[in-house]
Amino acid sequence: MRIGVLGLQGDVQEHVERLQDIGADPVIVKRPADLAGLRGLILPGGESTTIGKLMRKYELLEPVRDMGRAGVPLYGTCAGMILLAREIEGGEDPHLGLMNIRVARNSFGRQKDSFETDLSVRGVDGGPFRAVFIRAPHVTEVGPDVEVLAEFEGRVVAVRQGNLLATSFHPELTEDSRLHRYFAEMAEASTPAVQ
Ligand code: GLN
Repeated sequence: MRIGVLGLQGDVQEHVERLQDIGADPVIVKRPADLAGLRGLILPGGESTTIGKLMRKYELLEPVRDMGRAGVPLYGTCAGMILLAREIEGGEDPHLGLMNIRVARNSFGRQKDSFETDLSVRGVDGGPFRAVFIRAPHVTEVGPDVEVLAEFEGRVVAVRQGNLLATSFHPELTEDSRLHRYFAEMAEASTPAVQ
């Protein structure tokens, strides 16, 4: 099953490795033609302003938005969560604007810029998940159609809305591929690939 990883900036290779671990067929997406045949697309961590700019420059913003609207699963990690959000605190323009969430960027304070913690994630069996947070966003508001999958210290850090999945943390930076498997199952259950 072909699952894309948006390859413009950020931790692309780590997602590719986790997808290989679960036997999926990862495709690094750099231009619109790379979207053909995908059953899902991962938007990696990195810097959301930069990735958003590059998506516009390489004409990927509209086709990826169309994919998400057509029901193809999209999974945003960290910066990818910000790309998916309909609203960004501070009045910044949204990027894909697909997900009915409001996010705050860099929400865990300076001295805690990076940290790890064990989180239980709803729908992911087998015990807590080691979650790596790097200058991570959190979700400040969710729409009625959004399911909260995980919280950390009262802040929402993992959400799902139908075919859209987002986590503040980076599952690709651990050896644990359960969230990638969860996403691959969403992709398997969804409608056929992008034409
Ligand atoms: N702080 C970054 C942003 O706001 C996200 C960090 C990350 O993806 N690790 O875009």
